[in-house]
Amino acid sequence: MPERLDRILAGNRVEEVGRRGKFLFLRWRRGSLLIHLGMSGSLRVVPDRAPPERHDHLDLLLPRRLRLRFRDPRRFGLVRLAGPKPLAEPPLADLGPEPLAEGFDGVVLRRAFRGRRAPVKVLLLDGRVVAGIGNIYACEALHRAGVRPDRPAGSLAERRCVRLAGAIREVLARAIEAGGTTLRDFRTAGGEAGWFRRELSVYGREGEPCPSCGRRVRNDRLAGRSTFWCSRCQT
Ligand SMILES: [Zn+2]
Repeated sequence: MPERLDRILAGNRVEEVGRRGKFLFLRWRRGSLLIHLGMSGSLRVVPDRAPPERHDHLDLLLPRRLRLRFRDPRRFGLVRLAGPKPLAEPPLADLGPEPLAEGFDGVVLRRAFRGRRAPVKVLLLDGRVVAGIGNIYACEALHRAGVRPDRPAGSLAERRCVRLAGAIREVLARAIEAGGTTLRDFRTAGGEAGWFRRELSVYGREGEPCPSCGRRVRNDRLAGRSTFWCSRCQT
């Protein structure tokens, strides 16, 4: 990889900076880098003289004595080489619709769920069905929409899919506005904690009263993931 990387990057201009699902990409004329920040990775522009610290894995040298630095304390992230059209090849080409893009709605969701017996939450976490929804936001959106996480996805009527699609968009938009959700060590690119944690209704609140009805929030495992939900509000 290093040799190819040099041919793609060295002295060449970045043509595009983008995101698809949970992947960021930098595109040059001859190839691209896919970057996944994992749980708490970050990309920051730092001065050339800033010495790398313990969890810094990659520096891209920029003009004007700056560097783009990839830090990944928990090592869930990745950097991977891709071709000059990253959106047209896997893994990006396999991703489902972007929930914040125009056109994402209950009809799209209903179509994706049709005939599927898997629990609705499992499909929300599957990037091929909808791109970029993580566990926290799946739990919060299902609570907001009043949908039981283990309900077979294909059993959701269109009206409920419409509500769920709206809830997904609202939760994601609000979380982005708040700078993300810091539970442990997540930091924004500017090094700050994300404040969406304060607005979580169910995630991480096992045993606490549901903000809508007061019943205790449950935490059940679903496909190996913690699933926080209210057994009264979500049906
Ligand atoms: Zn409730």
